[in-house]
Amino acid sequence: MQMVEVDAPVEGLDDTKKRVALTFDDGPHPKVTKQVLDILDRYNAKATFFMLGNRVQYYPEIALDVLNRGHEVGNHTWSHPVLPKLTEEQIMNEFTTTENAIISAIGQESTVFRPPYGSTTDAINAMIPRDVAIWSIDTLDWKHRDANKLVQSVKNQMHNNAIILMHDIHQSTADGLNGVLDYLTNEGYEFVTVSNIMPYVQ
Ligand code: ZN
Repeated sequence: MQMVEVDAPVEGLDDTKKRVALTFDDGPHPKVTKQVLDILDRYNAKATFFMLGNRVQYYPEIALDVLNRGHEVGNHTWSHPVLPKLTEEQIMNEFTTTENAIISAIGQESTVFRPPYGSTTDAINAMIPRDVAIWSIDTLDWKHRDANKLVQSVKNQMHNNAIILMHDIHQSTADGLNGVLDYLTNEGYEFVTVSNIMPYVQ
């Protein structure tokens, strides 16, 4: 993971607290993203949404809703390719077309980038003009599509300053999210964006 330089505490964060960054990839989705946003609001939890350009172009109003509710918008490429298999030009095209869709939808740039499948190289990370954020906990929500397994997966792997990977395109993820947020709230975690947790990630 590419790290940001830290020489001062991040404003607004309490260093004595445990923190977690929830991340939702591959949206926006016309139904599930909205459900995820409503659940996050109930817990006053901020998260990060890594969006695909080819979905932002169809659902710009959902992308804007994500931003307006206080969440971070990340670039997750246009078509979800395995980046190391592409040429430099193709990689930059994936980034830039998505960036243009995001700017068109929300009126500002993305603030962080996540390569599909977490597949990247130092050269690619250097090429992308954003901090590159992977994850530390993979819930495998895309695979099991099971709300109970989503919650159990977080419980089994949880650690401080975790970045949790989920997808706001599966109904089971929205269905399990209350349980995830209940658990993390009870455990004393503060919900922060990826950009705000990266200074603390080892
Ligand atoms: Zn993805």
